[in-house]
Amino acid sequence: MFSRKLIDESGIRADGRRLDELRPIKLEIGVLSNADGSAYIEQGKSKVIAAVYGPRELHPKHLSLPDRAMLRCRYHMAPFSVEQRKSPAPSRREMELSKVVREALEPSIFLEYYPRTSIDVFIEVLEADGGTRCAGITAASLALADAGIPTRDLVSACAAGKVEGLFVLDLTDAEDKASEADVPLAIMPNLGSITLLQMDGMLTLDEFQSIVELAVKGCKQIHSIQREALKAKYVAVKEVVEE
Ligand code: UDP
Repeated sequence: MFSRKLIDESGIRADGRRLDELRPIKLEIGVLSNADGSAYIEQGKSKVIAAVYGPRELHPKHLSLPDRAMLRCRYHMAPFSVEQRKSPAPSRREMELSKVVREALEPSIFLEYYPRTSIDVFIEVLEADGGTRCAGITAASLALADAGIPTRDLVSACAAGKVEGLFVLDLTDAEDKASEADVPLAIMPNLGSITLLQMDGMLTLDEFQSIVELAVKGCKQIHSIQREALKAKYVAVKEVVEE
């Protein structure tokens, strides 16, 4: 049996959350004036900003695609985002995450509307306490909407995992490090499709299914918080314009 350090007997986690509870989420849209679209997310102690440029002419031109826009993503952690200063040079992990973030966002965008252009997404992790790839995807999807880029649905992302033998939603860094498994997931809730599914660790098939269900539940909650954040910005703007 486990000697539990992160979850007490009544199923309450070190930060006071229930097993199936998300960390507090704060979302803000349009935080950068120099990008075409932007969004900021705080999910517990993780803080991430996303900026979008485009659609814009792609350079070098020979890379441009004749039938659609090229989506390019960069996931990067600031040197001060983690306890041990991180080198600003892109690590293997950041290169991998840039790829999975691109693949998570790509199916949501009508890339075919903008042939020969590029859409560039920059995700900068300002403070990391677990779940930064998912927070980055959630923020980037809002930044795309803020840039006025037509999408099929918002992409909402969240991880779930197994910690000290129990299934938990939205792992912190400490939970991630102690976990038996961790499953980051991104979905387009209105379309019922999964755009990111990774797994670190070992699970039985039944455990995997339960954890995916838990992560889907978390993503759906994040989806409604994203919608509220969009409304908070754009309904307010519409009211000012109509006055
Ligand atoms: N982390 C770190 N240094 C690194 C990379 C990660 O301290 O160079 C921490 C950070 O808090 C991060 C957590 O480990 O959020 C989990 O990292 P993982 O690779 O699982 O990605 P994430 O859960 O952030 O998407």
